[in-house]
Amino acid sequence: MASCAPVSLGREDIDRAAEALASRVPTPLAPLARAAYNLRWSWTPGGADAFSAVDPQRWELCGENPIRLLTEAPPEALGRAGADAGLVQRAQALEESIRADVARPTETTGPATDERPVSFFCAEYGVHASLPVYSGGLGALAGDILKESSDRALPLVAVGLMYHQGYFRQRIDGTGWQQEYWLETDPDRLPAALITTGDGTPLTVSVPINGEDVVAQIWRVDIGRIALYLLDAERPENSHLARWTSSQLYVGDPVTRLSQYVLLGVGGMRALRALDIDPGVVHLNEGHAAFVSLELGDSERTVFTTHTPVPAGNDSYSAAEVVDALAGLDVDADALVRSGRTHPDDEHEPVGVTQLALRTSRAANGVSRRHGEVAREMWQAIWPDRAVEDVPIGHVTNGVHVPTWVGGPMRGLLDRHLGDDWLDRASDPATWDPVDSIPDEELWAVRREQRSALVDYVRDRSAADRLSRGEPRDYGEAAAEAFDPDVLTVGFARRLATYKRLTLLISDPARALGLLTGDRPIQIVLAGKAHPRDDDGKRLIQALFAQRGAPEVGRRVIFLHDYDLDMAARLVRGCRGGVNGPRPPMEASGTSGMKSAVNGGLNLSVLDGWWPEAYDGSNGWALSGEPDADHGAQDARDAAELYRLLEDEVVPEFYGRDESGVPRAWLARVRSSLKTIGPGFCAGRMLADYVEQVYAGAAHAVR
Ligand SMILES: *Cc1c(COP(=O)(O)O)cnc(C)c1O
Repeated sequence: MASCAPVSLGREDIDRAAEALASRVPTPLAPLARAAYNLRWSWTPGGADAFSAVDPQRWELCGENPIRLLTEAPPEALGRAGADAGLVQRAQALEESIRADVARPTETTGPATDERPVSFFCAEYGVHASLPVYSGGLGALAGDILKESSDRALPLVAVGLMYHQGYFRQRIDGTGWQQEYWLETDPDRLPAALITTGDGTPLTVSVPINGEDVVAQIWRVDIGRIALYLLDAERPENSHLARWTSSQLYVGDPVTRLSQYVLLGVGGMRALRALDIDPGVVHLNEGHAAFVSLELGDSERTVFTTHTPVPAGNDSYSAAEVVDALAGLDVDADALVRSGRTHPDDEHEPVGVTQLALRTSRAANGVSRRHGEVAREMWQAIWPDRAVEDVPIGHVTNGVHVPTWVGGPMRGLLDRHLGDDWLDRASDPATWDPVDSIPDEELWAVRREQRSALVDYVRDRSAADRLSRGEPRDYGEAAAEAFDPDVLTVGFARRLATYKRLTLLISDPARALGLLTGDRPIQIVLAGKAHPRDDDGKRLIQALFAQRGAPEVGRRVIFLHDYDLDMAARLVRGCRGGVNGPRPPMEASGTSGMKSAVNGGLNLSVLDGWWPEAYDGSNGWALSGEPDADHGAQDARDAAELYRLLEDEVVPEFYGRDESGVPRAWLARVRSSLKTIGPGFCAGRMLADYVEQVYAGAAHAVR
């Protein structure tokens, strides 16, 4: 940055906050306090362990938030930790490794440089459970992109919103109905600092939204080398309505939701300008940030990723709502409204943020090959004189940040066999060749270790969840007793939208029960949230709960409340595999199966989203992905095939042991899954695709 920049981009503000915390803990723990202000700790081996060692119980109570840990741990615990020479050494090593990582030179690529970084816009970021500004898959993906950008030293900054209540928390009541509640986040207990100007007052930008000049302050969060800037309307100048803009993620009220998008897009661009950041590329991750175009003037720098083929996922608003929201801005509202319509002349058509983003970007992509096809068809009407295959929407298939999702034992195994720097080479298939020479016994032992950790977690959580719903004591305890690390564990954890067809598995209760009992049983862990306004999704959960009285169900089927990033990580590490049965072609990509695969789990999924690109017959199992207009018939067919696969292939392969107790055929499939999905669906491959095909290229230039 030029030395005349008016503000410091917030780095000094983060340093000041870190030093303030460092000065409040015993001196030997100061390195931990500084490490706490960079989320790089969360994917550094031993990072979480170093914090946990200070006070393991408090670490859990604080939701694994290191700022809270170091602020709230009793003085005796801090004193004890400060006197522990081994821990102090680990703390120093952690701080040093973060410092060295941040100090590496930037890898300049194409149009992105230090002076003109990629500016990534997203409504949510799932970086760590202790930073609650995410809801689900979109946020987890955005978090993974930031982490991988940091690892690759890509010049990138990120823009989002600071939500004071985050996304809703979930509990299920005694009738099986989802109840939502929100918890207040104290930003001062986050690894975040308000960006200040030279005189110490917060830097602000202002955006006219719905007739009010909304003032926003800007928090900086460090994710390795990446600065994440979060706009926050919680300012004394603002009305209560304006402040509500940064309250809840995906707030239900449409006027507020639209205000959030204006704050993100217009306010986000103004924040970058106030920070003297001139983007080389502006990446809109989903349509929520489409209003950046109001500040950019031209579309030469903007690229857009669409994430959902579900119509309800593509937000739209009436023309009047949009005109009202933008009234104070110097924009041609009529032209804008027209750009937001698939058919600009249709006055009855609402204004969609996806259409607006497509029309104002130089390139656009879906998030899997299949989704690219679906998106071209879905949005073809925007380019009426083009054939579907010429619609300028490409695809970059999602990938997952391996250091975040791989469990400790599995990472140790791969460290030993793939070579020290395998994570730097994870997208190269040759890196994974040595998987073939890992002894079966070693691979199996690591898998067993990871599932034992999950079983312990599930036992604790299920008892607490059940008793808190007011369930009978014996049911409350049933799963805690019966859940077994040697039983085939199947996970189904995802957003509970109807298209995900959670109920496929229980559609034939007698057959489902057969799978849960006998001498080769399966056990099932379920988790996920339905959107607060999605009563159909909530009825899905209720339908599941209606089965809980059946024999064996209470012992073998567990629904865990309040799915989040932490739970997702535990599930993908410990389940033998995941079952995914979306109604094709509604799954844009899906990433849970990738997270499970890098942990040696096997995927059984409908051939939708990413799975058609990955499935090769040897690395998991597949259900047909052919769409069928007759949903009832399709569900019946898919359920029958799902049961057949589980009964005839998955269960026999898992329990088919030789004399040493190792399932050879199963492990052959695990190897194949690791070797194909590891390189093909890691975030390194995804980011390289973005850099080469989207940021640099004009392959799918919209103009
Ligand atoms: C990975 C992840 C998702 C994505 O789930 P899919 O069903 O594969 O789309 C959602 N939520 C959380 C918390 C995740 O970590």
